Order: sequence, then C-alpha cells, then structure tokens
Amino acid sequence: MIPITDNHIHLDRKGKGIIAAKEFANAGGTHLILVSKPSWTIGVNVTEPDGFKPVFEETNSIAREINQSDIGVTVFTVLGVHPAEITRLTDQVGQTRAEELMIRGLETAERFVAEHEAVGIKTGRPHYEVPDSIWDASNRIMAHGMTLARDIGCAVQLHTETTDAAAVADLAAIAKKSGLAPEKVVKHYAPPTVQVFEREGIFPGVLAGKGAIEVALAEGSRFMMETDYIDDFERPGAVLGPKTVPRRTKQLIERSGEEAEAVEEVFWKVHKENPEQVYDIEITI
Ligand SMILES: [Zn+2]
Repeated sequence: MIPITDNHIHLDRKGKGIIAAKEFANAGGTHLILVSKPSWTIGVNVTEPDGFKPVFEETNSIAREINQSDIGVTVFTVLGVHPAEITRLTDQVGQTRAEELMIRGLETAERFVAEHEAVGIKTGRPHYEVPDSIWDASNRIMAHGMTLARDIGCAVQLHTETTDAAAVADLAAIAKKSGLAPEKVVKHYAPPTVQVFEREGIFPGVLAGKGAIEVALAEGSRFMMETDYIDDFERPGAVLGPKTVPRRTKQLIERSGEEAEAVEEVFWKVHKENPEQVYDIEITI
C-alpha cells in the first residue's frame, strides 16, 4: 500500500459530499487536500468583512466529518477566496469594496491556519480576460495572500490563468516580492511541465487528465496530482471524478512492469514527501 493524495478537490453537501470521499478511499486514495468552494456555489452572499467565514466553516465541517468517520481518508483543508469572486463582487458592491472584502476573506483564512484549522490559503487571479483595473486589483489581492502566508509560514494554492513558462516566472516573482518562498506556492490545475515549475521553485498540482501524469513523470517527481473535482451534479464531467488520482497512480505502477518498484518509489515522493514539505503536514498510512 502507498499513500495517495489528491492535491485539490471540492466536496459539496448538495453533491456527493462524503460519498465522494468513500469512492476515493475505495479506489485506494488516502489523503485529500480539500479546498473551499467559491462562496456563490454554496449559497453564501458575501457582504461583510467576515462574510467568507461561513464558507470556510462549511469546508472544515465536511473535513471533520470525514476525519471522524471510518472512511479511512485523512483530510486537510486549504481555505481562501476564489479569484472569480472579484467579478461577482464588483458587480454587486463596486471594485474597491470587492477588493476589500476579498482581502478580509484571506485574513479570515489566515486565522484558520493560525488556529491549525487549515494548512494553506487559496488565492490567485482570474483565468479569463478582465479589464486592467480588475487584473491589477487581483494581483494586489494575490500578493496580499502571499504576504499573509509568509507571516504565518504556510503554503498558498493559486488559481490563475493557464501557466506557460512566462506565467510561472511571473508568479514566482510576485511570491518573492511578497516575501514568500516559491517552494510554498502551489499552482493548482497545472500542466505537466514539471521542469518549468522546478526552475522557478513553484510546486505544480498537475491535473491528472489523460496522459498528463506520464508526461510529468518523464520530467521528474517534483509535483503533486489533483482532480479539481467540483462535486456539482449540474456540471457532470466538468472535471475529473474523485477516483481519478488513485486509479491513475495504480495503473501507472501496474503498467510499469519490471520498473514497478522504481515507479512506486516516485509516487511515494508525489503523494507523501511533496505534500508534507509544501503544507508542513504528515502523511501516514
Ligand atoms: Zn478548484
């Protein structure tokens, strides 16, 4: 048996909820990095500085339920503010107030980490075209999230535009300017360009889609694996299912024939050593 960690998954009580964690476990998964959902997807309308708190409490309550059950999966949470919140909030309350609310949200997430109720902060910038003023505000918000992470020594997970080499270098530069070591930055939804990320110090959470992990493995072992499962019945197939990471991992070990032992060794790094190092957690089975 080896540890198998999904670096970025969402669970929703209106979706499969903890049933998805059971499916993950039955397929051989052992650890989940559970990420808070965008506020609107769980029916929370953020209007006050403390407005993200119920979003984070919901994520943590799902994590607690799984950790206290006999499912056999250990859950750690990453809490924060989805970058697309800026578009919705700006429509509702204007850009200045939107930026303020999102920054307060990140500070709330930092408090959860300080109280050992989360292992990282989620931030980033929109993955779609936005006006310059929104882009600049998003960069300020992301840099603030990185500074908070530096202050308490935790990791950040980034949701951003597609990351070619230039984007990875830009994100690493913003992290350094914010005082955060790029080694504490995880690019979620990353392509399998492991060496590009390694050069800049950022950790890629490689999306475990068809063929991606084979490409990642050919480039090294400094990456994590994820599905970005969103647990939304209205968007089936929008992302990979909860069994994907354990299934792919096992398939790749089985198909490696004589090299199975060496490949298994690499997956110990991917699923245990890398997340332990980045999030300062313990992955034990
Ligand atoms: Zn996600």
